[in-house]
Amino acid sequence: MDLAYTAEEEDFRARLSSWLAAVLPTLPPRPDPLDWPGRRAYDCDWQRRLHDAGYADVHWDASPTQRLIFLEETERAGAPYVGANFVGLLHAGPTIAAEGTREQRERWLPPVLRGEEVWCQGFSEPEAGSDLASLRTRAVRDGDAYVVTGSKTWTSHAEVADWCELLVRTDPEAPRHRGISWLAMPMDAPGITVRPLRTLAGSTEFAEVFLDEVRVPVANRVGAENDGWRVTMVTLSFERGTAFAGEVVACRRTLGEIARAARRNGAWSDDVLRRRMGALSAEFRALWRLTQWNVSEAQAGGGPPGAGGSVFKLRYSHARQELYDTAAAVLGPDALDLGREWNPDRLSSLSYTIAAGTSQIQRNIVAERVLGLPKGR
Ligand SMILES: Cc1cc2nc3c(=O)[nH]c(=O)nc-3n(C[C@H](O)[C@H](O)[C@H](O)COP(=O)(O)OP(=O)(O)OC[C@H]3O[C@@H](n4cnc5c(N)ncnc54)[C@H](O)[C@@H]3O)c2cc1C
Repeated sequence: MDLAYTAEEEDFRARLSSWLAAVLPTLPPRPDPLDWPGRRAYDCDWQRRLHDAGYADVHWDASPTQRLIFLEETERAGAPYVGANFVGLLHAGPTIAAEGTREQRERWLPPVLRGEEVWCQGFSEPEAGSDLASLRTRAVRDGDAYVVTGSKTWTSHAEVADWCELLVRTDPEAPRHRGISWLAMPMDAPGITVRPLRTLAGSTEFAEVFLDEVRVPVANRVGAENDGWRVTMVTLSFERGTAFAGEVVACRRTLGEIARAARRNGAWSDDVLRRRMGALSAEFRALWRLTQWNVSEAQAGGGPPGAGGSVFKLRYSHARQELYDTAAAVLGPDALDLGREWNPDRLSSLSYTIAAGTSQIQRNIVAERVLGLPKGR
């Protein structure tokens, strides 16, 4: 497989890079990372600028290589990341694009691309994380609406979201994978209570969501009733396969900053630390190649990314933790100071081996679906 970029793609890169050079100096300062309403406004403003410049649909409609170039160039230039638009742009949106009706695509996709509406993901429940199919939030049909009751947890961006990609049980009698449906729930519907949870780094980026007889129109169901598990697999393949891709480039940039700091404070003379940085550099280069390969394979197959995304997620989340452990080693005792650069990222890196499916679950998927080993349970 040829992973090199064509002249046309390099032309796209040049145009994007000069647009970024012109627009980035005009951006307002980034809000405090703990200020989620401020971050929502900032992230949506960035998305609107991308939209107005013709780059908004790069996540969905552009060629896979253009998408990769977009990630490389925006990271290289230090442009804002998707932030609060993560779920809408990187997995709810692509799921609706792949599985929604024409009306659903027309209703929900343009506001995401214009940075007007933010999505969150209501999959996990207190008793249904890795074993997602055991979810209990129920939806009972009442005329042209589902009446939804239950609770969700770890719902990222719930505090600032307009919509939630919600998994509900629509048939309690069916085998557990068969009685689930995928709904788009408006977050301002009566009966929804959002209680923010605080992370180790102090952020309220996720929340508990309580649902008390919330009415969600039947027209908001994506896919057939009780076929939500299949739709969910499409969402998870985007979430694990491509959603984290841009962060690999960001990690390479951070690694460069860590190496420069090590040169300044003398840590560079430590052979063990230098070797760790060298190994990480190789790991992130390999992960970027794996991303290119996963994206090209998905394009060639005409569907969402496959189980290769689990290989990526597994390796990436561990490499990210190692990156910030290395940053802490370079900082020395200052690493305990939350105000120091990289420290909030170091604390949040711990969550990457849990979010979007734990490492143990990714290993099960790699064993069963990539290596073809027998199921252990
Ligand atoms: C930062 C962050 C953001 C998140 N955002 C969202 C969000 O927006 N929306 C959402 O719906 N969820 C979200 N989650 C939840 C996340 O998807 C779950 O935490 C994850 O799926 C694990 O589920 P759990 O926490 O219930 O752990 P459990 O499933 O209870 O697992 C506990 C431990 O047992 C292990 N384990 C469980 N089953 C197996 C098995 N079969 N084989 C081997 N080991 C196993 C797990 O790997 C883990 O180590 C987020 C989580 C984090 C950390």
